[in-house]
Amino acid sequence: MKPDVQNMDLSQLETFVTGLGEKKFRAAQIFTWLSRNAASFEEMTDLPKGFREKLAEEACLTLPTILRKQESADGTRKYLLGFPDGQAVESVFMKYHHGNSICLSSQAGCKMGCVFCASTLNGFKRNLTAGEMLGEMAAISRDTGESISHIVIMGTGEPFDNYEEISRFLNLVHHPKGRNLSLRNITISTCGLIPGIEKFGKDFPQVNLAISLHAPNDELRSQLMPVNKKYPLKDLLAACRKHGDITGRRVTFEYTLIKDFNSDRVHAEELVSRLRGSLCHVNLIPLNPVKESPWKGVDRKKAQEFRDFLEDHGVPATVRRELGRDIDAACGQLRLGWMEDTSETIS
Ligand code: SAH
Repeated sequence: MKPDVQNMDLSQLETFVTGLGEKKFRAAQIFTWLSRNAASFEEMTDLPKGFREKLAEEACLTLPTILRKQESADGTRKYLLGFPDGQAVESVFMKYHHGNSICLSSQAGCKMGCVFCASTLNGFKRNLTAGEMLGEMAAISRDTGESISHIVIMGTGEPFDNYEEISRFLNLVHHPKGRNLSLRNITISTCGLIPGIEKFGKDFPQVNLAISLHAPNDELRSQLMPVNKKYPLKDLLAACRKHGDITGRRVTFEYTLIKDFNSDRVHAEELVSRLRGSLCHVNLIPLNPVKESPWKGVDRKKAQEFRDFLEDHGVPATVRRELGRDIDAACGQLRLGWMEDTSETIS
């Protein structure tokens, strides 16, 4: 297998190009081209032609293929992106007043098994590499012709189950000679893998951390999220408080409101008793429908009542504005794809 240049940091690229008998500064040129969404060595026109050909022989640079694109009435675009081994993931482009944002997948499929989430339905296939995540960005930037200023790692997969590639991705995307994206503009969401949370606070204190909480007690949370049996709420919340102490930044708790399950006054009261006094913010998301699942969301009014209760009792909360629901691109609606299944939809 030829090495993938998108997976290399600058010093690895330098070693690679000098190994091909070229000057070290060529590495920075390639690195910059990659951050400008280059899809082939051929496009790197300030490299000598002979060197470009050599690179194409010795290394690979393949952006994922756009297998399907859906555009929402609100401008959100959902992409099904295919990798050379046939795996495909969904990623979403969103426009906000503060800039363009992309929701990236970190794994093909997911092992976590949360009962209300589409990402887990077809099981787990494999981790994505840092280069493949950059490829998601590059493919979407090329297609939209727009730059991306914000990243949320909230697509398919559990990022802390793929810690090494995620941290390589963050270092690459943040590199001043690369995309130079501020770590403060990146949010990563976890279902609550405590060792990952602990390590992440030390490695990347500037990145925003979101925790998928979804319930105010272990009994309910374990019904929704198998991970809760291994990392129960008390330990999870203690890890979050520690994260706030180390980073000085507030943790976001994502709380999906499910009808007749976790969205009544008693649940709001219990949540307040759990969270009051900690540096946090609650993001309420009325459950988005997943066709295979019987769970139902709440209406906007009920979500607002839940929010008001939290706010009135000292816990900052908002109801998330949902983008892309009409194209199943909202939270929890992204899923694993497979090229052959989708061949009829390739445009
Ligand atoms: N595995 C990570 C990253 C996924 S982020 C995590 O669990 O945090 C996707 C977010 O959408 C998570 O908070 C997830 O719990 C939430 N979600 C999943 N299914 C949903 C649904 N049907 N409606 C609303 N939110 C959902």
